[in-house]
Amino acid sequence: NDEKSLNFIEEIIEEDIRNEKHAGKVLTRFPPEPNGYLHIGHAKSIVLNFGLAQKYNGRTNLRFDDTNPVTEETEYVESIKNDIKWLGFRWAEELYTSDYFETLYAFAVKLIEKGLAYVDDSSSEEIAAFKGTPTEPGKPTPYRDRSVAENLRLFAEMRDGKYPDGDKVLRAKIDLASPNMHLRDPLLYRIKHAHHHRTGNKWRIYPMYDFAHGQSDSIENITHSICTLEFVPHRPLYDWLIDQLEIFPSKQYEFARLNLNYTVMSKRKLLQLVNEKYVDGWDDPRMPTISGLRRRGYTPASIRNFCERIGVAKRENIIDVGLLEFCIREDLNQTAWRRMAVLDPVKLVITNYPAGQTETLTGENNPEAEGGEGERSIPFSSELWIEREDFMENPPKKFFRLAPGLMVRLKHAYIIKCEDVVKDAAGNITEIHCTYLPESKSGEDTSGIKVKGTIHWVSVPHAKTVEVRLYDRLFNVENPAAETDFKSTINPDSLQIIKNAYAEPDLLHAVPGKGYQFIRKGYFTLDSKTTTADKLVFNRTVTLRDTWAK
Ligand code: ATP
Ligand code: MG
Ligand code: MG
Repeated sequence: NDEKSLNFIEEIIEEDIRNEKHAGKVLTRFPPEPNGYLHIGHAKSIVLNFGLAQKYNGRTNLRFDDTNPVTEETEYVESIKNDIKWLGFRWAEELYTSDYFETLYAFAVKLIEKGLAYVDDSSSEEIAAFKGTPTEPGKPTPYRDRSVAENLRLFAEMRDGKYPDGDKVLRAKIDLASPNMHLRDPLLYRIKHAHHHRTGNKWRIYPMYDFAHGQSDSIENITHSICTLEFVPHRPLYDWLIDQLEIFPSKQYEFARLNLNYTVMSKRKLLQLVNEKYVDGWDDPRMPTISGLRRRGYTPASIRNFCERIGVAKRENIIDVGLLEFCIREDLNQTAWRRMAVLDPVKLVITNYPAGQTETLTGENNPEAEGGEGERSIPFSSELWIEREDFMENPPKKFFRLAPGLMVRLKHAYIIKCEDVVKDAAGNITEIHCTYLPESKSGEDTSGIKVKGTIHWVSVPHAKTVEVRLYDRLFNVENPAAETDFKSTINPDSLQIIKNAYAEPDLLHAVPGKGYQFIRKGYFTLDSKTTTADKLVFNRTVTLRDTWAK
């Protein structure tokens, strides 16, 4: 066992196991609020929570933290479950904080009975003003010394819907002079006359995060409740509530949230992008959501690998999105099947190849895999599409592609030599005329000629017209969230659509979720949302190399 490679949470867990704390059991939870789709930051938390349980023979609960009826929806619940499963994890139990509303209510009653909670009629502004500042102690509002009996009656009336929203709150009675603002009589319950996606209109009061979260952890006997650093100052309150209620002693541990450059990661901002149609839904391939990354062609393994590589930090930092791209490139280089497609076509005619004749060549699917994972047929003929950029009439030195008099190899086919170009009246090149060396066929080349360049191509009569979508960063600045208006930094050129690209015919068998390397053009996947039987649409997952110039 390599002690040095443990992260700080693993160290804590191993210590707890050694001390036979909780009989050596590990129970973690992933607690999303169902108010949006999961993003790559959530993936970090998922990989951490589920990964720890896997490593230490424990379990992980999926708990929907559904205490805010206004923003939560069943659609989000379904997408969250789907994304976690797709990432490759299985939860022990599917739970909802809303299932604990009755228990949480009883906990609140217990605090009132112990003289540790009171109903406050002050407005939120008054409460804030009475709280003081970090350097000045707070003052009691006129309601702080209500009797237990009065508090019990008022709290029950709040529950029964007797008061409008904002009329009263339930607060813990702790310490108005505490240097920790979270201990200055924090709010436990608020009134909200709203329809809840699971409990309907049953409840008129809803618990605050601080009262719901730790108590839910405790109800489930969570041993290690892992959250992000902004909850460090909440930890004394987390412990205080558990102590006073004398319930299972779950413990909270905090790590640095994942921040990624050139994107935003708050659900509120992502929702704005969706609602204001800057993107085509939560699963737009430019979004940092799990569903967006999936549609873009990311694999579960690449995302898990990314989360593991960045590790578990105790200090905030910003991860370069280049690392995420590195992880998917590394995966697809091993797994993607190689295919040919021409994105910006110009016609090439082989003048010494019989017109109308077709020949079937072969190419292996995956040169990185042993045995190549089989091969596919590639039709060849006298007319081919090649990339416009692979020809230059007046090339610079060391141009190893096509130019008058130069030779290249056509991938999986023959060596050709450029003889002539044909132009239209306006001077645009319409055809490139070449001759081929019949004895230079790939795999059985006896020509003795060595060429420096190899280019990809698609036979004109066999080409399938497909749509190709190329993506760039959604934002032009590293930290859009730091701008006054993050939407003003949106990259207007983040999506380029090529309506008429030509693909080799085998790509008609492409399936969503599988990666393909379009030779020399990058990694692509079939778009699961817009592809139809008549029109295949491919998303570029990532370029072959890091071409991003900062
Ligand atoms: P957002 O700011 O996007 O609304 P949130 O924290 O409010 O995020 P939740 O649904 O409450 O969203 O998050 C579920 C879990 O995922 C929490 O435990 C939270 O700490 C964790 N999480 C959310 N964002 C990140 C992130 N960027 N890095 C690591 N963990 C995260
Ligand atoms: Mg949250
Ligand atoms: Mg949030």
